[in-house]
Amino acid sequence: MGSNPFPTRGAKLNSAADTPAAIWHPSPNFGIRRDGLTPSLIVIHYTAMDSAAAALQRLCDPSVEVSAHYLIGGDGACWQMVAEDQRAWHAGAGQWRGQDDINSRSIGIELDNRGGHPFAEPQMAALESLLAGIMRRWSIPADGVIGHSDMAPGRKIDPGHKFDWKRLARLGLCVWPAETAGQATELGWWHDYADSFGYPIFGFELDGVDDMEAASFQAFRDRFRPQARKIKHIENEDLRIIENLANQEFSKF
Ligand SMILES: [Zn+2]
Repeated sequence: MGSNPFPTRGAKLNSAADTPAAIWHPSPNFGIRRDGLTPSLIVIHYTAMDSAAAALQRLCDPSVEVSAHYLIGGDGACWQMVAEDQRAWHAGAGQWRGQDDINSRSIGIELDNRGGHPFAEPQMAALESLLAGIMRRWSIPADGVIGHSDMAPGRKIDPGHKFDWKRLARLGLCVWPAETAGQATELGWWHDYADSFGYPIFGFELDGVDDMEAASFQAFRDRFRPQARKIKHIENEDLRIIENLANQEFSKF
Protein backbone atom coordinates (compact mmCIF):
# COMPACT_ATOMS: atom_id res chain seq x y z
CA MET A 1 0.00 0.00 0.00
CA GLY A 2 1.32 3.50 -0.83
CA SER A 3 1.86 6.06 1.87
CA ASN A 4 -0.98 8.26 0.64
CA PRO A 5 -4.22 6.36 0.17
CA PHE A 6 -6.08 9.54 -0.94
CA PRO A 7 -3.91 10.90 -3.73
CA THR A 8 -6.50 12.77 -5.80
CA ARG A 9 -6.24 16.50 -5.27
CA GLY A 10 -9.55 18.00 -4.22
CA ALA A 11 -11.11 14.66 -3.34
CA LYS A 12 -13.06 14.76 -0.13
CA LEU A 13 -13.56 12.15 2.52
CA ASN A 14 -16.87 12.22 4.34
CA SER A 15 -16.90 11.89 8.10
CA ALA A 16 -20.33 10.24 7.98
CA ALA A 17 -22.63 8.56 5.49
CA ASP A 18 -24.95 10.66 3.31
CA THR A 19 -27.90 8.74 4.72
CA PRO A 20 -28.49 7.53 8.28
CA ALA A 21 -29.51 4.15 6.82
CA ALA A 22 -25.89 3.42 5.82
CA ILE A 23 -22.82 2.51 7.83
CA TRP A 24 -19.90 4.77 6.86
CA HIS A 25 -17.05 2.50 5.80
CA PRO A 26 -14.70 4.66 3.70
CA SER A 27 -12.81 3.37 0.67
CA PRO A 28 -9.62 5.05 -0.58
CA ASN A 29 -10.71 4.29 -4.16
CA PHE A 30 -12.33 7.52 -5.34
CA GLY A 31 -11.61 10.95 -6.81
CA ILE A 32 -13.37 14.15 -7.81
CA ARG A 33 -16.05 14.11 -10.49
CA ARG A 34 -14.63 15.47 -13.74
CA ASP A 35 -15.81 18.63 -15.50
CA GLY A 36 -17.92 19.68 -12.53
CA LEU A 37 -20.37 16.84 -13.17
CA THR A 38 -22.93 15.85 -10.55
CA PRO A 39 -24.80 12.54 -10.35
CA SER A 40 -27.50 12.15 -13.00
CA LEU A 41 -27.47 8.34 -13.13
CA ILE A 42 -27.58 5.49 -10.65
CA VAL A 43 -25.89 2.25 -11.75
CA ILE A 44 -26.95 -1.03 -10.14
CA HIS A 45 -24.48 -3.91 -9.85
CA TYR A 46 -24.07 -7.25 -8.22
CA THR A 47 -20.79 -8.16 -6.57
CA ALA A 48 -20.37 -11.74 -7.90
CA MET A 49 -18.60 -12.53 -4.62
CA ASP A 50 -19.23 -15.02 -1.83
CA SER A 51 -20.20 -12.55 0.89
CA ALA A 52 -20.82 -8.89 1.61
CA ALA A 53 -17.78 -8.89 3.91
CA ALA A 54 -15.53 -10.09 1.09
CA ALA A 55 -17.00 -7.49 -1.28
CA LEU A 56 -16.56 -4.71 1.29
CA GLN A 57 -12.92 -5.63 1.70
CA ARG A 58 -12.29 -5.67 -2.05
CA LEU A 59 -14.12 -2.38 -2.67
CA CYS A 60 -11.91 -0.73 -0.04
CA ASP A 61 -8.61 -2.32 -1.14
CA PRO A 62 -6.32 0.34 -2.66
CA SER A 63 -4.45 -2.26 -4.71
CA VAL A 64 -7.64 -3.32 -6.56
CA GLU A 65 -8.71 0.23 -7.50
CA VAL A 66 -12.45 -0.43 -7.60
CA SER A 67 -15.20 0.94 -5.39
CA ALA A 68 -18.84 1.90 -5.30
CA HIS A 69 -20.77 4.43 -3.27
CA TYR A 70 -22.91 1.77 -1.60
CA LEU A 71 -23.00 -1.94 -0.89
CA ILE A 72 -26.19 -3.66 0.28
CA GLY A 73 -26.01 -7.09 1.92
CA GLY A 74 -28.57 -9.84 1.53
CA ASP A 75 -29.97 -9.00 4.96
CA GLY A 76 -30.47 -5.35 3.99
CA ALA A 77 -27.39 -3.99 5.80
CA CYS A 78 -26.02 -1.02 3.89
CA TRP A 79 -22.49 0.37 3.82
CA GLN A 80 -21.41 3.63 2.20
CA MET A 81 -17.81 3.71 1.00
CA VAL A 82 -17.59 6.89 -1.11
CA ALA A 83 -19.35 10.23 -0.55
CA GLU A 84 -22.14 10.81 -3.05
CA ASP A 85 -20.55 13.99 -4.40
CA GLN A 86 -17.31 12.13 -5.18
CA ARG A 87 -16.41 9.85 -8.11
CA ALA A 88 -16.36 6.14 -7.24
CA TRP A 89 -14.77 3.56 -9.56
CA HIS A 90 -17.57 1.13 -10.41
CA ALA A 91 -18.68 1.67 -14.00
CA GLY A 92 -15.56 1.42 -16.18
CA ALA A 93 -15.74 1.64 -19.98
CA GLY A 94 -19.21 2.14 -21.39
CA GLN A 95 -21.78 4.67 -22.46
CA TRP A 96 -25.39 5.59 -21.81
CA ARG A 97 -27.50 7.94 -23.90
CA GLY A 98 -24.42 9.08 -25.79
CA GLN A 99 -22.45 9.99 -22.67
CA ASP A 100 -19.28 8.33 -21.41
CA ASP A 101 -17.28 8.71 -18.16
CA ILE A 102 -20.25 7.19 -16.38
CA ASN A 103 -18.30 7.25 -13.09
CA SER A 104 -18.36 11.05 -13.12
CA ARG A 105 -22.11 11.06 -13.83
CA SER A 106 -23.35 8.36 -11.51
CA ILE A 107 -23.76 6.83 -8.10
CA GLY A 108 -22.89 3.13 -7.96
CA ILE A 109 -24.74 0.60 -5.83
CA GLU A 110 -23.39 -2.92 -5.38
CA LEU A 111 -25.74 -5.71 -4.29
CA ASP A 112 -24.27 -8.71 -2.51
CA ASN A 113 -25.16 -11.52 -4.90
CA ARG A 114 -23.03 -14.19 -6.50
CA GLY A 115 -24.85 -13.72 -9.81
CA GLY A 116 -27.80 -15.74 -11.01
CA HIS A 117 -29.31 -15.90 -7.53
CA PRO A 118 -32.59 -14.27 -6.47
CA PHE A 119 -32.20 -10.99 -4.61
CA ALA A 120 -33.42 -11.25 -1.02
CA GLU A 121 -36.47 -9.31 0.16
CA PRO A 122 -34.63 -7.26 2.84
CA GLN A 123 -31.98 -6.37 0.27
CA MET A 124 -34.59 -5.15 -2.23
CA ALA A 125 -36.40 -3.17 0.48
CA ALA A 126 -33.13 -1.49 1.52
CA LEU A 127 -32.33 -0.75 -2.13
CA GLU A 128 -35.73 0.86 -2.67
CA SER A 129 -35.30 3.16 0.26
CA LEU A 130 -31.70 4.03 -0.70
CA LEU A 131 -32.70 4.76 -4.31
CA ALA A 132 -35.56 7.01 -3.27
CA GLY A 133 -33.20 9.04 -1.07
CA ILE A 134 -30.47 9.40 -3.72
CA MET A 135 -33.01 10.33 -6.40
CA ARG A 136 -34.45 13.00 -4.10
CA ARG A 137 -31.04 14.41 -3.06
CA TRP A 138 -29.77 14.71 -6.65
CA SER A 139 -33.06 15.17 -8.57
CA ILE A 140 -32.44 11.99 -10.58
CA PRO A 141 -35.55 10.86 -12.50
CA ALA A 142 -36.63 7.23 -12.92
CA ASP A 143 -34.95 6.95 -16.33
CA GLY A 144 -31.61 7.68 -14.68
CA VAL A 145 -31.62 4.33 -12.86
CA ILE A 146 -29.85 1.72 -15.02
CA GLY A 147 -27.96 -1.55 -14.75
CA HIS A 148 -24.23 -2.00 -15.30
CA SER A 149 -25.11 -4.20 -18.30
CA ASP A 150 -27.11 -1.34 -19.86
CA MET A 151 -24.09 0.95 -20.13
CA ALA A 152 -21.52 -1.79 -20.84
CA PRO A 153 -23.43 -4.44 -22.81
CA GLY A 154 -21.38 -7.50 -23.64
CA ARG A 155 -18.68 -6.46 -21.18
CA LYS A 156 -20.88 -6.66 -18.06
CA ILE A 157 -23.98 -8.72 -17.29
CA ASP A 158 -24.92 -7.41 -13.82
CA PRO A 159 -27.37 -7.02 -12.15
CA GLY A 160 -28.57 -9.89 -14.36
CA HIS A 161 -31.84 -11.50 -15.33
CA LYS A 162 -32.86 -12.29 -11.73
CA PHE A 163 -32.99 -8.64 -10.76
CA ASP A 164 -36.58 -7.40 -10.32
CA TRP A 165 -36.71 -4.13 -12.28
CA LYS A 166 -40.49 -4.26 -12.46
CA ARG A 167 -40.67 -4.12 -8.67
CA LEU A 168 -38.58 -0.92 -8.67
CA ALA A 169 -40.67 0.54 -11.49
CA ARG A 170 -43.90 0.11 -9.51
CA LEU A 171 -42.43 2.56 -6.98
CA GLY A 172 -41.26 4.96 -9.69
CA LEU A 173 -37.61 4.00 -9.10
CA CYS A 174 -36.88 3.06 -12.74
CA VAL A 175 -38.71 3.04 -16.06
CA TRP A 176 -40.88 0.24 -17.39
CA PRO A 177 -42.76 -0.07 -20.67
CA ALA A 178 -46.53 0.34 -20.65
CA GLU A 179 -48.19 -3.07 -20.70
CA THR A 180 -50.02 -2.67 -23.98
CA ALA A 181 -48.99 0.60 -25.60
CA GLY A 182 -46.87 0.67 -28.72
CA GLN A 183 -47.13 -0.89 -32.12
CA ALA A 184 -44.80 -3.53 -33.42
CA THR A 185 -43.96 -2.31 -36.90
CA GLU A 186 -40.62 -3.17 -38.48
CA LEU A 187 -38.47 -5.66 -36.61
CA GLY A 188 -35.37 -4.14 -38.20
CA TRP A 189 -35.96 -0.92 -36.28
CA TRP A 190 -35.07 -2.37 -32.91
CA HIS A 191 -31.61 -0.76 -32.94
CA ASP A 192 -32.96 2.72 -33.70
CA TYR A 193 -35.34 2.61 -30.75
CA ALA A 194 -32.67 1.07 -28.51
CA ASP A 195 -30.29 3.87 -29.47
CA SER A 196 -32.96 6.48 -28.61
CA PHE A 197 -33.58 4.81 -25.27
CA GLY A 198 -29.87 4.91 -24.39
CA TYR A 199 -28.09 1.71 -25.39
CA PRO A 200 -24.60 2.25 -26.84
CA ILE A 201 -25.03 0.82 -30.31
CA PHE A 202 -23.91 3.34 -32.92
CA GLY A 203 -20.44 4.85 -33.07
CA PHE A 204 -19.24 3.19 -29.90
CA GLU A 205 -16.87 0.31 -29.32
CA LEU A 206 -16.09 -1.67 -26.22
CA ASP A 207 -12.95 -3.77 -25.96
CA GLY A 208 -13.79 -7.43 -26.46
CA VAL A 209 -17.32 -6.79 -27.76
CA ASP A 210 -17.66 -7.56 -31.49
CA ASP A 211 -21.30 -6.65 -31.97
CA MET A 212 -22.68 -3.82 -29.85
CA GLU A 213 -26.20 -4.31 -31.21
CA ALA A 214 -26.32 -7.99 -30.24
CA ALA A 215 -24.78 -7.22 -26.84
CA SER A 216 -27.27 -4.41 -26.23
CA PHE A 217 -30.12 -6.68 -27.26
CA GLN A 218 -29.07 -9.25 -24.66
CA ALA A 219 -28.82 -6.52 -21.97
CA PHE A 220 -32.28 -5.30 -22.97
CA ARG A 221 -33.71 -8.83 -22.80
CA ASP A 222 -32.19 -9.51 -19.37
CA ARG A 223 -33.77 -6.34 -18.05
CA PHE A 224 -37.14 -6.14 -19.80
CA ARG A 225 -37.95 -9.68 -21.00
CA PRO A 226 -35.90 -12.06 -18.84
CA GLN A 227 -38.41 -14.84 -19.54
CA ALA A 228 -37.42 -14.67 -23.24
CA ARG A 229 -33.68 -14.29 -22.69
CA LYS A 230 -32.81 -17.57 -24.39
CA ILE A 231 -34.61 -16.63 -27.62
CA LYS A 232 -31.94 -15.13 -29.80
CA HIS A 233 -33.99 -13.35 -32.45
CA ILE A 234 -35.96 -10.14 -32.12
CA GLU A 235 -39.69 -10.70 -31.63
CA ASN A 236 -42.63 -8.35 -32.05
CA GLU A 237 -42.89 -7.97 -28.28
CA ASP A 238 -39.26 -6.76 -28.09
CA LEU A 239 -40.02 -4.08 -30.63
CA ARG A 240 -43.22 -3.05 -28.90
CA ILE A 241 -41.33 -2.66 -25.61
CA ILE A 242 -38.33 -0.77 -26.98
CA GLU A 243 -40.57 1.52 -29.03
CA ASN A 244 -42.59 2.28 -25.93
CA LEU A 245 -39.45 2.97 -23.90
CA ALA A 246 -37.90 5.13 -26.62
CA ASN A 247 -41.05 7.23 -26.83
CA GLN A 248 -41.21 7.96 -23.11
CA GLU A 249 -40.26 11.46 -22.06
CA PHE A 250 -36.70 11.38 -20.75
CA SER A 251 -34.52 13.78 -18.89
CA LYS A 252 -31.52 15.37 -20.60
CA PHE A 253 -28.13 15.06 -19.04
ZN1 LIG B 1 -21.02 -4.12 -12.11
